Amino acid sequence: KGPDPDLILIAERMASVKHKILVLSGKGGVGKSTFSAQLSFALAAMDYEVGLLDIDICGPSIPKMLGLEGQGIHKSNLGWSPIYADSNLGVISIGSLIPDPDQAVIWRGGKKTDIIKKFLKEVYWGELDFLVVDTPPGTSDEQISIVQCLKEDGIDGAIIVTTPQEVSLIDVRKGVTFCKTAGVKVLGVVENMSRLYQRLTDANFVRSSETGELTDVTKWALQYISEQAPELLGLMACSQVFDNSGGGASRMCQEMGIPFLGKVPLDPQLCKAAEQGKSCFEDQNCLVSAPALKSIIENL
Ligand code: ADP
Repeated sequence: KGPDPDLILIAERMASVKHKILVLSGKGGVGKSTFSAQLSFALAAMDYEVGLLDIDICGPSIPKMLGLEGQGIHKSNLGWSPIYADSNLGVISIGSLIPDPDQAVIWRGGKKTDIIKKFLKEVYWGELDFLVVDTPPGTSDEQISIVQCLKEDGIDGAIIVTTPQEVSLIDVRKGVTFCKTAGVKVLGVVENMSRLYQRLTDANFVRSSETGELTDVTKWALQYISEQAPELLGLMACSQVFDNSGGGASRMCQEMGIPFLGKVPLDPQLCKAAEQGKSCFEDQNCLVSAPALKSIIENL
């Protein structure tokens, strides 16, 4: 039996891609797609040629996070063209192949592998500095397929996104084991939603659920702060949302001998930027999340 013809075609396409990075997570909802989207925005802002491939086949959120909802993939004689969020940021997602966003994709393993292969074979990325691959949560068909398809050309490594809770960290350990078995280097772990930072503004003060008025205690506290320490108004309030009594991701990384890349706070403004398909680095409201993400990405 000769070499797999699909792998030959994939290798041809990947010859023009310098670096390939996988973004993994053990669980869903930890911020993996948000990280993939913002990583791509950041690399593009550094003037790199960037491709973002979303293989989260059952829950593609990348088109929305890049502001590309409702746009379809075009085909030309060079192959399938990515949808461009910027002149140097092309995006391919299963979400862009499905016209109705409410439609559920229910595919078994083989079909998932087929579409991933098809993306890798058909998409004409042109010269890329980075291909960022956003994968679904867990280590299942999609991860196995992408690793098998790209192994020959080499994957630079995987970034694993987690939240601080032990239940999420347990699954990170599985992700690390998967990478080791598959021969993919772990570039490191990002702890997302580590803490909640909120600007102390009127909107955050406690209000009566019935009337919507500020409660008496809140009014008193506000008056007290205004009189005694007005400089505190407008500062950031910080609180730990998730239990981190196990030591969180940094300790786990130490134990496992893998790099800890840093913490990204839970920032309502980052959520808003993601909902609006915007780069947090260009949004002046992302005061706490954007610097955290920037330093992680710059130190990669
Ligand atoms: P996953 O890809 O792991 O399933 P998502 O990136 O889709 O997770 O994130 C789930 C939700 O949480 C999204 O609405 C996203 O905007 C929001 N989110 C992710 N990270 C943060 C953060 N650091 N602060 C606030 N909201 C966040």
